[in-house]
Amino acid sequence: YTGGPATLRDVVLFSSGHGERDFLVYEDFRCSFAEHFRLVAGLARCLREEYGLATGDRVAIAMRNFPEWSVIFWAIQAAGLIAVPLNAWWTDAELRYGLTDSGAAVVFADAERAALIDRGIPVVQVRGEALALGARAWSELVASLPADAELPDVTIGPDDDATIMYTSGTTGRPKGAVGTHRNHCTNVLNTVVGRRVQAALANGGVFPPLGDPDAPQPGVLLTFPLFHIAGLTSLCFATLAGVKLATMYRWDREAAARLILDEGLTTAAGVPTVMRDLVEQGEAVRQLEGVNMGGAPIPPDLVHRIDGLGTGVAPASGYGLTETTSAVTTNAGVDYLERADSVGRCVPGADLRVVDPATGDDLPDGEIGELCFRGPNVVRGYWNNPQATAESFTDGWFRTGDLGYVEDGWVHVVDRLKDVVIRGGENVYCAEVEAALFEHPAVLDCAVVGLPHPKLGEEVAAVVNLRTEVDTAELQAHVAARLAAFKVPAHVVVRPDPLPRTPTGKVLKRQLREHLGAHGS
Ligand code: ATP
Repeated sequence: YTGGPATLRDVVLFSSGHGERDFLVYEDFRCSFAEHFRLVAGLARCLREEYGLATGDRVAIAMRNFPEWSVIFWAIQAAGLIAVPLNAWWTDAELRYGLTDSGAAVVFADAERAALIDRGIPVVQVRGEALALGARAWSELVASLPADAELPDVTIGPDDDATIMYTSGTTGRPKGAVGTHRNHCTNVLNTVVGRRVQAALANGGVFPPLGDPDAPQPGVLLTFPLFHIAGLTSLCFATLAGVKLATMYRWDREAAARLILDEGLTTAAGVPTVMRDLVEQGEAVRQLEGVNMGGAPIPPDLVHRIDGLGTGVAPASGYGLTETTSAVTTNAGVDYLERADSVGRCVPGADLRVVDPATGDDLPDGEIGELCFRGPNVVRGYWNNPQATAESFTDGWFRTGDLGYVEDGWVHVVDRLKDVVIRGGENVYCAEVEAALFEHPAVLDCAVVGLPHPKLGEEVAAVVNLRTEVDTAELQAHVAARLAAFKVPAHVVVRPDPLPRTPTGKVLKRQLREHLGAHGS
């Protein structure tokens, strides 16, 4: 390996240099970079030679965050095939949609999902006591791999397809965003550069020396799902940079705290609700150097809370979509503390336009419009869906469906276009009202939605999950002290249960609206 990386195959090759360092940690399973590479090389050859797959063929992964996920993903890349990570929370019908839509030739699934998948394509089952009907056991496949396989000899270029990643489907049916090697390599290199710059800023502007063999190994607690672009980004970065990667079956903050302490992890990565829970736990988060958040709006109070721990743990965040191959803007370090309400600045190579969503005309700085991005991290379109591609991609510009504005180069996301509450002709941006509610100490979680109103068209309603009891009138007064009267929720509904969120941290607002509507708010 020299130069690059220009393809994800190059990232795999590079990772072999991390040798015996720890890579994957999951419960009592551990795997070094060397062992990982050996498995990746053997499986890549098996996919080509035994399964007979050829460049351009798709291989699906339908699994929770088990360490095998990484081996399978990198084997697919090493073999020059296209990886199709499927959402591990999908039902059997949704899995069928993902497999049919992508035309996957083989699927690797954990026991729960292997049992849901219709036969028709080869299924390799990872983990689980009982083997699903017709599935091949991962342990048997691994035992058949040669101990000293080399990566198959395939030729792939930066503009070849590497992944089909389905969007979360919060606004409609999930679409398969087609990511190229260039998209992913741009993203991973931006992450490397961003971390180096942050390290330099924390070091008085001086870049710390590279390649110190005695430096302790960094480690990340990854709580994003690997099938989501934010999780995949962490995996790619850890693989390239020699970072230990610890994953969990499901979020459990006491178990997370033990992992951080026992493994000496240096960062935690996850959606804001999960990272808030880690901060509430208190003890382990103080050991960290960084908390990296994304996937959903990050309430400014959380940024200050992390900084307020006073132990030097630095909050950082990225804003992006599946279609921008993760972060297209980032905010970190002192900048973030000064501008916690901003998603930061564009990553290198990305261009931003703010346009009037109705006309597509450019808007001046400071005016709210739809955020559109162009650059080497923007995917080429949606798989099998020319209509959706034409609607969202024009001349390399991608329409995000998010509303925001730019001020002095700092990007602000105010709401998703489809979630804006229009109250008597005035726009109310949910994230702004939610940020105000989060500043109240009793509020553990909240979401703001619009409800139909006969005269105003819509009115503002808030659903809150409380840490301690509080009168809803006090919450309204709290918002009224901070925001204009028309933004104050007319209804505040206390919900004893956690808010319904996607695995990537987004509140299922459609579900909340339906629920509130049905119960007469
Ligand atoms: P679908 O298009 O199917 O509805 P989705 O857009 O929810 O799916 P993702 O790509 O997972 O799928 O989510 C991207 C969205 O997440 C962005 O459009 C934005 O609304 C939100 N988002 C991500 N990071 C941030 C952030 N840091 N701040 C605010 N919003 C964010």
